[in-house]
Amino acid sequence: MTNKLPWGELPWDPEMESPATILVIGGGPVGIEAALYARFLGYYVSIFETRRVAHRMLDWHDRPLALPVSQVTTSLGHAAIAAQNPDYKRPDPERFFTGREYSEEYLLPLAKTDLLFDDIHFLSPVVDVSRIRTHRRDGVLLQERCNDEFRVLVQGQHRGPWTARGDCVLDCRGHAIEPIGMGPGGGLAIGEHDLETDFLRYAPGDRKYEAKHLIGKRLGLVGEDAMACQCVEDWLAHFGTDPDTRLVWMVRPSEDSASDRALELRARIDAMSLRNVLCIQTLGVESISRNEGGTFRWKLLKEDDSTVELDTDVAMRRTGYRYRSLGPELHCHADAWVSPNGAVLSGEDATETEQLIDTLQKRVITAEPGYYALRASPIGQGAGVGLPRAFEQIRQVFAIIGGREDLDLYRIVEQQSANQ
Ligand SMILES: Cc1cc2nc3c(=O)[nH]c(=O)nc-3n(C[C@H](O)[C@H](O)[C@H](O)COP(=O)(O)OP(=O)(O)OC[C@H]3O[C@@H](n4cnc5c(N)ncnc54)[C@H](O)[C@@H]3O)c2cc1C
Repeated sequence: MTNKLPWGELPWDPEMESPATILVIGGGPVGIEAALYARFLGYYVSIFETRRVAHRMLDWHDRPLALPVSQVTTSLGHAAIAAQNPDYKRPDPERFFTGREYSEEYLLPLAKTDLLFDDIHFLSPVVDVSRIRTHRRDGVLLQERCNDEFRVLVQGQHRGPWTARGDCVLDCRGHAIEPIGMGPGGGLAIGEHDLETDFLRYAPGDRKYEAKHLIGKRLGLVGEDAMACQCVEDWLAHFGTDPDTRLVWMVRPSEDSASDRALELRARIDAMSLRNVLCIQTLGVESISRNEGGTFRWKLLKEDDSTVELDTDVAMRRTGYRYRSLGPELHCHADAWVSPNGAVLSGEDATETEQLIDTLQKRVITAEPGYYALRASPIGQGAGVGLPRAFEQIRQVFAIIGGREDLDLYRIVEQQSANQ
């Protein structure tokens, strides 16, 4: 047994022998793959999903993923589906799945295999994580904490609250954890919290979008991250030539903070001189409320500290997401990592240099022994771009807890399939 890792030493021994129980939080592509990897190695798993398996990818609907099949699927996944269904034909590795195809042809069949099906708890959000015997305030040695079991509190939609125990937690909650506020500096606007459930959630192009929500209406959209840009592009494709349907797109004044995609889109809209699109620069939404007729009243803060008011029929927030730690009793936050010399780095420290972030995010060890954060990259340029990185993280976690640096089930299974 060793706590020596390729980049240094940890103040606890991360190895875990099977049979042990792994609690997987999140039933997206990363959680499903991680659970599968664990099952192939003989661990018990429990997967907790707030809604249903792969719902975000299903919502991505008929839009193509940014990467081909070869990079969003794994040898392990194909082997598991093939074992269940002898007629399964591996999709062309060069093909680009849409979100829906990825879910229906790969993720859902995987979730339905005997390896995983009975272990998935859907409509079961995990609302808290702690350990059984050790409290954070006890100041116990990390090794003692490492030997202790995890306890998760699940707020089952059907079953009510219940708890589960495990030896290790894989946090696969994705990037859509907590929306960034639409107020100045990412804070909440006055009224935002109360009106949240009234905001339009689905853009044209999303699976659950209904045209009646936008046709002939004035949409107020705030934000300029990748999802906001996607929404604007979808809107333009549907309504760009409809003078009765209007868009007010609220963006930040500084071009420095905008992505290339947002800048390109803003320039394209300018060049088109569309009369039904208005792009307003604002430091943020100071307040949002509803008028008597049900329309939304926005008060926007300008750079010179003045405010401007406008009304829209529909409101949409696309300001991005930030991570939120699960379980204040844990030593880690979802955005804290252990540095090569064992020091705990918070997300803030880690932003010192991009290289450091990259290095830390590839490492999945958090400051809580046995709690691993697996993430496809933070929301980026296209759907699925971070999945190869997440698969590498999965390989790393199991190499760490299996105590075998070179353990790579993906490669082993690929070789086995090639030899058959
Ligand atoms: C509108 C939209 C835009 C997208 N844009 C991008 C993009 O720019 N870049 C990109 O790479 N991908 C994008 N995607 C694709 C997709 O979201 C991700 O690539 C992919 O889903 C990441 O997989 P994941 O498993 O990490 O996260 P997710 O698919 O988000 O899966 C995480 C799962 O965890 C569940 N969960 C969260 N908290 C809890 C909890 N407390 N308890 C239990 N379950 C929980 C969620 O319900 C979710 O099902 C987009 C998708 C959509 C719908």
